[in-house]
Amino acid sequence: MTSRELFVQTLEMEQKEYVPFFPRDLTLGMDCLDVPTDAVFGNGYDPKLSAECVLALQKLLGNDATVGCIAGYSLEAFGGVMKYSEKGIPYASGYPFEGIDRIDNYQPSDIIKGFVSGMRRSSEIVRDKRPDLALVTNVPGPVTMSGFARGLETLMMDLIMNVDIADRIIGFCTDAIEEEMTFLSKDISDAVFLASASDNPDMIGEEGYRKYTLKNVKRLSDRIHSNGSLSIFHPHGVFSTEDRRELLSESIETGVDGFQFSEGNEPEGILEVCEGKCTILGGVTAFTTLLLGPEKRIVRDTDKFLSCFEDTNYIMTCSCSVNRGQPLDYLKVMADHIRQYNGGKS
Ligand SMILES: [Zn+2]
Repeated sequence: MTSRELFVQTLEMEQKEYVPFFPRDLTLGMDCLDVPTDAVFGNGYDPKLSAECVLALQKLLGNDATVGCIAGYSLEAFGGVMKYSEKGIPYASGYPFEGIDRIDNYQPSDIIKGFVSGMRRSSEIVRDKRPDLALVTNVPGPVTMSGFARGLETLMMDLIMNVDIADRIIGFCTDAIEEEMTFLSKDISDAVFLASASDNPDMIGEEGYRKYTLKNVKRLSDRIHSNGSLSIFHPHGVFSTEDRRELLSESIETGVDGFQFSEGNEPEGILEVCEGKCTILGGVTAFTTLLLGPEKRIVRDTDKFLSCFEDTNYIMTCSCSVNRGQPLDYLKVMADHIRQYNGGKS
């Protein structure tokens, strides 16, 4: 069985024996080849260099699935100003819809005029060179992308004081996500990952989460399925406690194939609700354990998740994406330990 088959079969809830590894590799590949961030993003997008970075990281870690490109936010397409410092992660220094009137100048489909075409090309190169790997397109969730477009603090104010504006921005951004993910994933990706850090009930409230996140995630997941891929949803926030069981149930009733919990959740609480209903993703905390070590703690935490999820459909990830600056040696400890758990397979 190839890594790709293993990943897809797990996400389709058809196998539990092996645990595929998917470090959601947004920008970390550049550290592998010591490539400056602005070499990929600085002068247009360099798809060939992006694919080289992705494949170098995969060679080091042996991961079963990859995002397929060095990922950016594509906000230039709407007039956003992104910064690409030499060793930094891309970040927004100007939000395209900080002034709400600017939204009138654009269509959601304009998003594919930005770096997205380069990201697509990188994913195609990775798909051609490594047809045995699973390819997972990464896009933001509805409120998350709206936060990038409007500025998160302003969007949080809109949700309370200017509901019409919030409705408009989140509607526009959901349309843009649909365009972006379809363009990036069509005919090459096995799954689409909805990276939803600000689609967080602890931030936007349970009603906001139902209205803005879940309703739109259902629509996006349906579209992902009709495009021929599987869907994975990764909201931040606590879902493992008793009082959030209902909200977690509603989250997977959107029809997503995989649910990735973030840091701060107890794996047992996630297992209770998700088991038999969707594939679970999640794992060792990226911002503490995998950043600071030591190796013993990484191995102990990896074991904790492997043993909790040993009888269910489970794909091991880090708690969130992996980016530049994440120590490669520590991530390799985790990858090697999963491979050992799988008896050398994967
Ligand atoms: Zn995350």
